[in-house]
Amino acid sequence: NNDEEKSDDYLFKIVLIGDSAVGKSNLLARYARDEFYPNSKSTIGVEFQTQKMDIDGKEVKAQIWDTAGQERFRAVTSAYYRGAVGALLVYDVSRRQTFDSIHRWLNELQTHSDMNVVTILVGNKSDLKDAREVSTAEGKALAEENGLFFMETSALDSSNVVAAFQTVVKEIYNILS
Ligand code: GDP
Ligand code: MG
Repeated sequence: NNDEEKSDDYLFKIVLIGDSAVGKSNLLARYARDEFYPNSKSTIGVEFQTQKMDIDGKEVKAQIWDTAGQERFRAVTSAYYRGAVGALLVYDVSRRQTFDSIHRWLNELQTHSDMNVVTILVGNKSDLKDAREVSTAEGKALAEENGLFFMETSALDSSNVVAAFQTVVKEIYNILS
């Protein structure tokens, strides 16, 4: 079947990383199912979710992996990173500590992945305006320093969620096609 062959042309593994409770699972839930969980526990995470996208008239599949809570134990396994070509490196703009962890996650990503992973730095929970602890400028600066894309998102109000995933997928597509 021709259609099937075509749709199998592009399958990109993308991983979600970042501290516990920054909103990784909800970003994926919002992107893949347009859902949000106000009081989510780490157990809501799925192993991965495959999402179809259309780029330049070609069907591209993004296989997006969620940690399902294993980051709480500082033990995201190397299997999680294996074969990844893209990553969303997520912090919570209302918790500086999660922004300070970004260096460690970036290190972990570089250690475990076998190639140059297209990475976007994501400052999530941009809806929490009164609780903000990390400015947009700081996020941008860190991204520039490390050669990362950058976006602020809200899984709650949906802002930039699709755009963040699309940025990564499009860049991977541009590199590999
Ligand atoms: P994870 O541990 O990184 O997967 O984080 P979760 O997706 O489980 O989210 C942790 C908590 O933050 C949950 O209570 C979510 O409802 C909440 N949360 C996630 N994204 C957002 C967001 O964009 N804005 C707000 N206000 N809360 C969020
Ligand atoms: Mg989670």
